[in-house]
Amino acid sequence: MKDLAQKALTTTNTAERSKIKHVFGNSPEYNTISVMANMLATIDPVLGADNVALTDQPGTYGTAINGVLFLLSTLFHAQATGVRQRARTVIHESSHILPDPFKTFDYWGLDANGDVHGITKDDLPKYTTWIYGYWHAGYSELRTEFSNFMHLNADTWAVFGYYCLYNQDPPAGTTAGANWTP
Ligand SMILES: [Zn+2]
Repeated sequence: MKDLAQKALTTTNTAERSKIKHVFGNSPEYNTISVMANMLATIDPVLGADNVALTDQPGTYGTAINGVLFLLSTLFHAQATGVRQRARTVIHESSHILPDPFKTFDYWGLDANGDVHGITKDDLPKYTTWIYGYWHAGYSELRTEFSNFMHLNADTWAVFGYYCLYNQDPPAGTTAGANWTP
């Protein structure tokens, strides 16, 4: 991710730029993407709790806590959870705990002017219209409509990691717990 983002800063590196656009949409913020890719490559994430039974949040592999650390669930450690899904979770949650203004979101609220705002679950009632940023729900709409915000969407980084490694999109899924097997 880091090397690709760095190369894409040079306008003549069209192959790298087209990969960035595939993941981030047609108006990517190349400079910020490179900065964040560097941060994610060197972040030392603080694990607040591990192997936690998140019975109130079924299908959740991990969750960020107050933007400073995250926890991993029993589902993360379950035998059926593949290594790709674990990598996805760690990258996704690590992006949530990057310092401002790089901290990422899962939900995007649209205000009356049609502007988009990264929001938390608690902020959802304040908005009549919002878009999910998850690969399995909302990602493609967000990428089409608000490409220049995609670097602040958590699942974008998991998708980017997958795309860099396998040169293809992650498997399509329809649920929050869609496992990126194997
Ligand atoms: Zn998230």
